[in-house]
Formats: sequence, structure tokens, C-alpha cells
Amino acid sequence: MGNDNQVTLQIKSIGENVSLVRMMAGGFLYAYDLTLDVLDEIKIALSEAVSNSMIHGYNNAENRIVTVTMAVQNRNLTIQVQDDGVGIADIAQAMEPAFSTREEHMGLGFVFMQTFMDDIDVFSEPGKGTTVIMHKKLPASAQPVSDAG
Ligand code: ATP
Ligand code: MG
Repeated sequence: MGNDNQVTLQIKSIGENVSLVRMMAGGFLYAYDLTLDVLDEIKIALSEAVSNSMIHGYNNAENRIVTVTMAVQNRNLTIQVQDDGVGIADIAQAMEPAFSTREEHMGLGFVFMQTFMDDIDVFSEPGKGTTVIMHKKLPASAQPVSDAG
């Protein structure tokens, strides 16, 4: 399909880059005529995954790299967020609503990712890092009003 596209971003693990990645997602998804609601939901899922890599994966260290790949094929969006951080020992437990290993956090990041995307896969190994892969079928773009009658 003519509109298929793919981009990979390697971003330094500083908080400011979460908003940068959101803007880049907005630019990348511009071609697909999404409603602002859908766009916002995708941006939330993406920024939750990127924040997790920075906060948990890298323990807030600012000299690490998070790799984000966004791809669209036949309006199937895939977003992959990867870090080489501490990893997750128990993925099922980490994904439980309200589970967090940090007191000041709500434990809702994975809930948002699951709510706003169609499905999510998490691959992780302690000491090696974490890869989150999310899929979403992009809703059809708004059709022009027919003038046939
Ligand atoms: P919130 O997202 O609401 O601020 P949270 O980040 O703790 O809180 P989730 O995003 O749902 O909640 O993540 C749940 C837990 O999974 C985290 O507390 C952390 O222990 C673990 N986790 C998530 N992503 C990663 C990652 N990339 N590397 C290591 N651990 C992770
Ligand atoms: Mg989180």
C-alpha cells in the first residue's frame, strides 16, 4: 500500500525525549487521517512504554538508549519500544493493574497500553532488557462526503 511506512528512532534516556517521541509519532501518523482521540491514545501508549524503559529499565540513568520503531502496513500499526536495561523477572505480575515496583507510581502504564492498543507483547530478560511490541488496526480515515445524491 502506498501509505505504508516505517521509522526507527534511537533516543537518549532523558525525560524530555518522551515528549519528543510523542511529537514524532504525531508526524509519523499524520498521513493516516486519525481522529485526535485515536492519535492521543496511541501517543499515551507509546509514551508509557518509553517512560517505563527510562524509569524502570534504566533506573532513570540519562546516558542510555531507547529504540522506538513505528511501522504501518495496510493500516496495521506496530510500535516497538526496546531497552537494554534491568529487565522484568515476572512479566505477568508487572502487567497486573496497579502493580508497581516503585512506591510513587500508580502501576497503570501497562493498563493504558492494553486499553489503547489492540494487543501488546512483552519480552524481557533480567539483566538483558525489555521489548514491548504493540499493535493497533488504524481506523479507516474519514471518507469525503459523496456528492452523488
Ligand atoms: P505508572 O506507569 O502508572 O507510572 P509503573 O510504571 O510502575 O507506574 P507500569 O507501567 O504498568 O506501572 O509497569 C509496571 C511495572 O513493570 C513497573 O513498576 C516495573 O517494575 C515493570 N516494568 C515496566 N516496564 C519496564 C521496563 N522497560 N524495564 C524494567 N521493568 C519494567
Ligand atoms: Mg509505567
